[in-house]
Amino acid sequence: MNDFDLQELVESVSKESFGKKFKHKAFFNPRLRTTGGRYSLSDHHIEINPKQYEHFGMEELIKIIKHELCHYHLHLEKKGYMHKDSDFKVLLKKVGGSRFCQTIPGKKKQATKIHIYECKQCSVQFKRKRQFDTKKYVCGRCKGRIKKVETIF
Ligand SMILES: [Zn+2]
Ligand SMILES: [Zn+2]
Repeated sequence: MNDFDLQELVESVSKESFGKKFKHKAFFNPRLRTTGGRYSLSDHHIEINPKQYEHFGMEELIKIIKHELCHYHLHLEKKGYMHKDSDFKVLLKKVGGSRFCQTIPGKKKQATKIHIYECKQCSVQFKRKRQFDTKKYVCGRCKGRIKKVETIF
């Protein structure tokens, strides 16, 4: 079983179980340790842990491929592609995929914004990765009102 065989296998599983074409690359990644496979949100590639096949055989490999294809097709169709999404759960159950994997965050998601806030009273500044409602919180130092200063990308 090499990358070429894997590519063909993924394409055929996609066609048979999903009725859709797999148009990107699938390959073995020996560096995957704790996970059977993963799907890349940024380039749509599917990577498979070669040990998975060596240890558990073809049946388990196909289950992992199905799992990754659930991410793949739902993501491309802009549906709920994450493990917690009901679209994902329903589709995974329907095709009989494995329950475990890991997704590589897409480039867009990785570009984290930083929000800068400032206390109106004592002028202390602090950074947060998430925005929050300035009406609901007060300064931790002086209990003054807080305003948002800027967002850094
Ligand atoms: Zn997954
Ligand atoms: Zn303050």
